[in-house]
Amino acid sequence: MKTLIAANWKMNPASQKEAKSLFDKVKKSKRKFKNSEVVICPPFAWLAVVSHMRNEGGLLLGAQNVFFEEKGAFTGEVSCLMLKDLKVDYVILGHSERRKYFGETDEMINKKIKKSLSVKLKPIFCIGETKDEKDQNKKSEVLERQITDGLKSVTKDEMKNVAVAYEPVWAIGTGNNCSVDETMGSVLFIRKILTKLYNREVADSTRILYGGSVKSENSGDYIKKSGADGLLVGGASLNPEEFVKIIKSAE
Ligand code: PEP
Repeated sequence: MKTLIAANWKMNPASQKEAKSLFDKVKKSKRKFKNSEVVICPPFAWLAVVSHMRNEGGLLLGAQNVFFEEKGAFTGEVSCLMLKDLKVDYVILGHSERRKYFGETDEMINKKIKKSLSVKLKPIFCIGETKDEKDQNKKSEVLERQITDGLKSVTKDEMKNVAVAYEPVWAIGTGNNCSVDETMGSVLFIRKILTKLYNREVADSTRILYGGSVKSENSGDYIKKSGADGLLVGGASLNPEEFVKIIKSAE
């Protein structure tokens, strides 16, 4: 199983020129990486331009969201088929920023996951507790609810195309990354829930990523010591040299 390293550019950069330059710098280094699958998730506005810069066996493309309806009167939304047409492979779903600022519920996220899987778009399904939930000892309860409701009616077979990203909300964009030990506990807990929902084989073969203030100084430890199978990188993915160091540390 290859390590999955995903770059979440969020609502950055501001221009097409910068997006091309950022993608190009990572693309040039990618030739040297053999053990990881690297997915770049730009904002919708830059997906087409970046898609045209891809080469065979190189960087993969991800979107940061998708809508669960196929087509029609849904102003401002983007469909799975549109993403497929742009050769998008992955889609980040359930990110805490979408949950917090855009009111996405577990039920909506589940619809998005199901729709994506129906066209073989691979969800990077984000889960994670807030600081308050952690302080109130509700982490396990929250993770179990998010996984159970988010994966409702997702089949064992479909799980081959799902990656789960454990992203404690308090660690995102704060510089306060979750310790390797705590991450290890969460990764184990997620596998336990997946075993309960599916079986041991599904739990062991589902890629679980860690995300939250990953930098090149801490990235290698998550891969080597926490049991995570990859990383979801926000802020640090906007610096191509730093992002390439992160990929290297996971090789
Ligand atoms: C993210 O937004 O998914 C993320 C992990 O951000 P950062 O790396 O900036 O904490």
